[in-house]
Amino acid sequence: MIPYGRQDVTEEDLIAVVEALQSDFLTQGELTSRFEQAVAKRVGALHGVAMNSATSALHVACVAVGLGPGDVLWTSPNSFVASANCGIYCGADVDFVDIDPVTLNMSVSALERKLKDARETGRRLPRVVVPVHFSGQPCDMREIGELARDYGFRVIEDASHAIGAAYAGKPVGACEHSDITVFSFHPVKIVTTAEGGVAVTNDPDLAARMARLRSHGITRDPTEMTHVPDGAWYYQQIELGWNYRMTELQAALGLSQLRRLDHYLTRRREIANRYDLALADMRLTLPVREPTNRSALHLYVVKLDDPLRHGEVFNRLRADGIGVNLHYIPIHLQPFYRKRGFVEGDFPNAEEYYSRAISLPMFPALTKVQQDKVVTAVRRAVAD
Ligand SMILES: *Cc1c(COP(=O)(O)O)cnc(C)c1O
Repeated sequence: MIPYGRQDVTEEDLIAVVEALQSDFLTQGELTSRFEQAVAKRVGALHGVAMNSATSALHVACVAVGLGPGDVLWTSPNSFVASANCGIYCGADVDFVDIDPVTLNMSVSALERKLKDARETGRRLPRVVVPVHFSGQPCDMREIGELARDYGFRVIEDASHAIGAAYAGKPVGACEHSDITVFSFHPVKIVTTAEGGVAVTNDPDLAARMARLRSHGITRDPTEMTHVPDGAWYYQQIELGWNYRMTELQAALGLSQLRRLDHYLTRRREIANRYDLALADMRLTLPVREPTNRSALHLYVVKLDDPLRHGEVFNRLRADGIGVNLHYIPIHLQPFYRKRGFVEGDFPNAEEYYSRAISLPMFPALTKVQQDKVVTAVRRAVAD
C-alpha cells in the first residue's frame, strides 16, 4: 500500500536521537529549548514552547489566552477534532464557521456574518477563534485579525499542516495577525518528532505562561513567586498545569528534521505540480493554490465531480494499493459534537466537500513510479 503520508527518517536523524539517548538528560534538557527556538526562528516568531503534541499545545494556548467556562471557541468544521476539543478541555463551548468551498479554509465572509449576527441578536461572541490552515494553505489572516480587533476575540492559528507556508510574504507562525500559532510534528506532518507540537508567539507573557502550563503550573522564576525562595531547591506551583513536555529524543529528531524543511517543501511542490498536470483532464476538481500565498502542501485533496461514486472510487483506490484517506469528516457531525446539538446541514460547504473529497498520497519520498501508479489507479477508478 502506498500510504497517503509518511515520515522521512535519515541516518543523521538516527545519530541525533542516539546521541540524545546517551546524553545526561532524556527530558528537560538543552535540546528541547534549542528545538523550540529553532522552530520560532524559522517561522519568524520571538518565542517557542515545545510540547508532547499539537493537541497539548492547542489546549495550553487556549488556557493562556484566558478561555474558560462560559466562553465559546469558534473553529473550522473541516479539521481534525483537536482544533475543537481544545475549547472543550477548557470548559468552554465550541461552535464552527463554515468553509470557503474553494480554499477549504474557514470562510472569512461566513465568519464576519456570524459575528455580526451574534452581536445584533445578543448571542455570545467568541472568546477565541482557531483558523486552520487546511492542507498547508494559509487562511485570510489579515481579515481575521481585523475582525479580532473589531469583535474582541483572540486568535490561535492551527498550523499543524503549515510549517514552511507563507502568508503575504511572511512565514506562517510570524503571528502578525494572531496571538499564538501551533505546529504539529506527528509523523504524517511535514516535519516530525514522532509526537510533538510547538506553540509560537511574539508575546513574552503568553510564552512564559505556556511554558509553565506544560509543566504542572510550576515556576522557578523568583519574580513569579509569592515570596522569596526558601532556598536553591525551591519552586512554586502557582496554577494548575499538566505534564505536556517534549522529550530530548523528540527534540533531537525535530532539530535534525527541521534542517530538511526546505527540501521537504520543494519535494511537495514537485509532487503537487506533477499531480496537477497528470490529473487535469479527469472528472475531478484539483486543489487550488493561491498565487499570493505559499502552501506547505501537507495534503493533496481532489474532489470527485460525482459524489454518488465517492465510496466506490475510494474503495477501488484502496483495493489497488493506494492508501487514500479523507480529510476531514466535518467535526460537528462526530457523535460527541452531535450530542452538543449540531446536526446535518449546519455547515453545508464542509458537508458538501466531505461528500467528494479524497486525499491522495503526498510525502517527500513518494517516487515518480509510485506517483504514476496513483495517477493510473485514479484514472481507472474515476473513468469507470
Ligand atoms: C495533526 C493535527 C492536529 C493534532 O496534532 P497532534 O500533534 O497529533 O496532537 C491538530 N490539528 C490539525 C489540523 C491536525 O492536522
